[in-house]
Amino acid sequence: MTIKVSEKIQNNLVNLRQQLKILGEESNDKQPVELLAVSKKHSIDAVKAAAEADQVHFGENYVQEGVEKIQQLKAEGFNQLQWHFIGPLQSNKTKDVAEHFDWVQSIEREKIARRLNEQRPSDKPPLNVLLQVNIDDDDNKSGLSADDVENLARFVSNCENLKLRGLMTILKAGTSEQERRDSFSKMRQLYQQLKAVYGEQIDTLSMGMSGDMRQAVLEGANMVRIGTAIFGQRES
Ligand SMILES: *Cc1c(COP(=O)(O)O)cnc(C)c1O
Repeated sequence: MTIKVSEKIQNNLVNLRQQLKILGEESNDKQPVELLAVSKKHSIDAVKAAAEADQVHFGENYVQEGVEKIQQLKAEGFNQLQWHFIGPLQSNKTKDVAEHFDWVQSIEREKIARRLNEQRPSDKPPLNVLLQVNIDDDDNKSGLSADDVENLARFVSNCENLKLRGLMTILKAGTSEQERRDSFSKMRQLYQQLKAVYGEQIDTLSMGMSGDMRQAVLEGANMVRIGTAIFGQRES
């Protein structure tokens, strides 16, 4: 990777942090916003450039690609990074995720939660878990419906090797600004309900990507997942 490309990534991070700071202060909850750098389909060098600019949280969608990056970066001494699995997860891939990742944001089924709980190595801290909610009931998106959050949350909270931290959503594409605001606002309500039951351990509401980060934070997101605005366009 050329110096120019890694400088670009680092400049993007500086700009995004600045924007998030201002947006967080403007939002209802006035809370700090964590930036998750979505590095799927970007190179190890791109991740390193971001890590060298103090980026800690990284998101990956594909198990094998993610595990390769995690192992390679650990081998090179990047031990402080936190890896989030954010893609659809099949049951035959849960073991790799349980063994290598720090967070899973895309839990939508009891079966997957049960397997991750069983497969999490005992010498590692509990795997941090977000439930993925399909808040727009979009046929093309994964995630559980809002009505099912309560049950799955109860199941996960009883898993010793999982730690329930909150909720994640991806909105339906092509909706209006008002519809997006309404959906984010519904997510915030669900999140508050979860907090009322499970208390302070519920501390993460992951919503907003490069295209809708601003609205998400104003409506209460405290983690945004950003790929393109950090690393540029993905290949295919
Ligand atoms: C790819 C992806 C992102 C990042 O999307 P950008 O538009 O590149 O910012 C965020 N969240 C999930 C779940 C993704 O799959």
